[in-house]
Amino acid sequence: MTHQFDVLVVGAGPAGIAAAIRAAEEGCRVAIVDENPHPGGQIWRGPSGKTKPDKAAGDALEWTGRLSRASVQTFFGWHIFDAPTAKTLRGARDADAADFHFKSLVIATGARERFLPFPGWTLPNVMGVGGLQAMVKSGLPIRGKRIVVAGTGPLLLAVAAYLRQHGAAIPIICEQASWRKLARFSAALLAQPGKLLQGLQLKREVGETRFSANSWPVAANGRTTVESVTISRSGKPETIPCDYLACGFHLVPNIELPLLLGCQIQNGYVRVDDFQRTSVAEVFCAGEPTGIGGVELSLVEGEIVGLSAAGRIAEASKLFGRREKLRRFARSLDRTFRLRSELRSLPQPETIVCRCEDVYYSRLRDQSGWRAAKLQTRCGMGPCQGRICGLATEFLFDWKPDSVRPPIFPVRVKSLSGLTGDSNLELCEITGGRS
Ligand SMILES: Cc1cc2nc3c(=O)[nH]c(=O)nc-3n(C[C@H](O)[C@H](O)[C@H](O)COP(=O)(O)OP(=O)(O)OC[C@H]3O[C@@H](n4cnc5c(N)ncnc54)[C@H](O)[C@@H]3O)c2cc1C
Repeated sequence: MTHQFDVLVVGAGPAGIAAAIRAAEEGCRVAIVDENPHPGGQIWRGPSGKTKPDKAAGDALEWTGRLSRASVQTFFGWHIFDAPTAKTLRGARDADAADFHFKSLVIATGARERFLPFPGWTLPNVMGVGGLQAMVKSGLPIRGKRIVVAGTGPLLLAVAAYLRQHGAAIPIICEQASWRKLARFSAALLAQPGKLLQGLQLKREVGETRFSANSWPVAANGRTTVESVTISRSGKPETIPCDYLACGFHLVPNIELPLLLGCQIQNGYVRVDDFQRTSVAEVFCAGEPTGIGGVELSLVEGEIVGLSAAGRIAEASKLFGRREKLRRFARSLDRTFRLRSELRSLPQPETIVCRCEDVYYSRLRDQSGWRAAKLQTRCGMGPCQGRICGLATEFLFDWKPDSVRPPIFPVRVKSLSGLTGDSNLELCEITGGRS
């Protein structure tokens, strides 16, 4: 199967949706691809759970409604895993595969949570903050469950509020950032009244829940599932009984696809110019891969991209002012929620770092780098392909992955078998047990 478009958008979160709508409104032939079965990305992926519809729910309805009315061809449930030529992406859905040809490409692949290893972090019911929220949105019942929320970043407060609305009891929210950093962050919010209001609203929603800065989990305890978590609170250990530990250390951009295409990366993010153009011709990028800044920034960057890709440069530049204000917020998020060095000493020799391949910290600490660790221990060689442990080892040992190769996500051999033409993939024919 092959498809041809003026503008191909990868990622149907707020950034991708805004880009697709704006480009389609300007008359471009647009397609949007997302691995999820529905548009909305991380934030709009399910009902908000609030009894009264709030701004987020209103925005979700407005933008996904606009997308369904726009002349945009949608490919939901499709995962982009390769870029066989400069103007082609390759995607898979179950056993099907297709090539998407484009004149302009918009990368809006969002971000994911960072996990750090500590004793017990692989126990059942220790989950990512956003991961647990996603499971509750998909129907996991948590009424009456005690959930400790820990890690860093504004997602802790947002998810704690969400879990409370679904009947969970939150004994404590542990934030690794210091009170001093949080105070500076709050002061910076005075220049962003919308964000300040959102923060106050979340604070109201978490109610009397204990919030502790300078705090992080040092161990999740339990035999078959988590039963309690030991946290370090301003240097003192405290053990808190719980049914779940929701734990995430802020967000990191999904930049595998831009790396595969050869886009330049700066300070961990895709480098873009004023019009969100990457260093590769006709490849644009919007939303979290260019900086972690929240839904409003993703939306405005998406609009700028859609207009730029459609050649509406003057229209696009009218949005620069709004974007700059929101980028200031993104920079203050980066400063406030930067990981403190003490977290590097959380793993013990027997702590698993690569959970796909069961690789212990003791096997990794003497390796010279990411490549050596992969060769010697299989760290990063399992189904997640280093998407989880690679971020942890980058923080723990300062290792950088030295290449990104397709498939950037696991894909079935059957999906590949019907494809023809150029490919970056090296397929091995397996015969009689020999490859
Ligand atoms: C787990 C998680 C939970 C979050 N929860 C909240 C919250 O409760 N409240 C809040 O304010 N903010 C939340 N955020 C932050 C929020 O996601 C961002 O502020 C904003 O929505 C980002 O929009 P985006 O369009 O840049 O990216 P996203 O919304 O992340 O959208 C990116 C999309 O790209 C798709 N994608 C990525 N790679 C591929 C590929 N190769 N092929 C096909 N599709 C692909 C993904 O499936 C996803 O739908 C959360 C973030 C995460 C990671």
